[in-house]
Amino acid sequence: MTYDYLIVGAGLYGAVAARELKEAGRSVLVIDRRGNVGGNVYTEKICGINVHMYGAHIFHTNDKKVWEYVNRFAEFNRFTNSPVANYKGELYSLPFNMYTFNKMWGVTSPDEAEAKIDEQRREITGEPRNLEEQAISLVGRDIYEKLIKGYTEKQWGRDCKELPAFIIKRLPVRLTYDNNYFNALYQGIPVGGYTRMVANMLDGIDTELNVDYLEHRDEYDAKADKVIYTGAIDAFFGYRLGYLEYRSVRFENETLDISNYQGNAAVNYTDRETPWTRIIEHKWFEFGRDEDGNDIPQTVISREYSSEWKPGDEPYYPVNDERNAKLYGKYLELAAKESKVIFGGRLGEYKYYDMDQVIASALKMTADLR
Ligand code: UDP
Repeated sequence: MTYDYLIVGAGLYGAVAARELKEAGRSVLVIDRRGNVGGNVYTEKICGINVHMYGAHIFHTNDKKVWEYVNRFAEFNRFTNSPVANYKGELYSLPFNMYTFNKMWGVTSPDEAEAKIDEQRREITGEPRNLEEQAISLVGRDIYEKLIKGYTEKQWGRDCKELPAFIIKRLPVRLTYDNNYFNALYQGIPVGGYTRMVANMLDGIDTELNVDYLEHRDEYDAKADKVIYTGAIDAFFGYRLGYLEYRSVRFENETLDISNYQGNAAVNYTDRETPWTRIIEHKWFEFGRDEDGNDIPQTVISREYSSEWKPGDEPYYPVNDERNAKLYGKYLELAAKESKVIFGGRLGEYKYYDMDQVIASALKMTADLR
């Protein structure tokens, strides 16, 4: 049988595209290299806890259409992300808010906090040219040194002076006692895990797992009129113009026979010396209870180690600096000549997308196809 669309990758982008095309009456085949659907939002149940196997994913969006869309496939709980930063045993509230400023400087009023930040940001004059300058101009040097520098350099493996400013603008700065990490109207975790949500999106759609498209390209290309490719764009072209850089992440998962390890879903280790960037305690995404509402006596934690991607590793984060932006531009020129193929998603578009942006991008792409 030939399909209208072959979709390479059963992550969020692929699953949303598949669902939309199927509902528009097209025939769709989805394939994935891994043995499971969900891509990097894949969750696996361990001791009744939905473990985020490829790193913590907290769904948040300001886009009502996207929020309503995901709610068709899962019920969302009321989880609100408020990570704690651990700097050499000193604990700070994240994102940067009045609790953080109080702990850092002893200030209690927004005016005092603002005055402190203003005094410290003066060292930056003109438009910030990199992440370091951007961070200091947002929150001052003290917070930069204790809560940003070490974490960022571990996460990206690069000096903060060599990173683009936009990365730190992801984090809100607030002069209120509000430690919700995201400035989003809607937020939560899908009850039952992300895997179930993605499986619901793919319900009734032909899906083949453990298939490496790049190794069986001719065979699979012959099965469909068009291809939607959500893997890494440089891999698609056999890296012929050179490698795009990615950051990869390694997780050390541990199941512990205690009910509470760190009292919060995410603790960031913001010093340079601790080798991991953060520890996730997955049960707190679901308030420590299983789906029947019972307290879970064990806990599962993941230490997260960031590393430079090399061939064979899983790519997680595109490194959106100048060199890579240029190279990606050249790959885009090659992509434009592939009339049968549409490139999409975090890897296909080489963008530091959040989940809601991935979904919005897939919805737009499929709407344009119709
Ligand atoms: N960041 C930081 N300290 C923290 C958390 C984040 O300096 O405790 C910076 C860091 O540069 C990171 C960026 O903020 O790359 C974006 O963080 P976010 O939590 O959005 O990253 P993600 O959850 O996508 O890994």
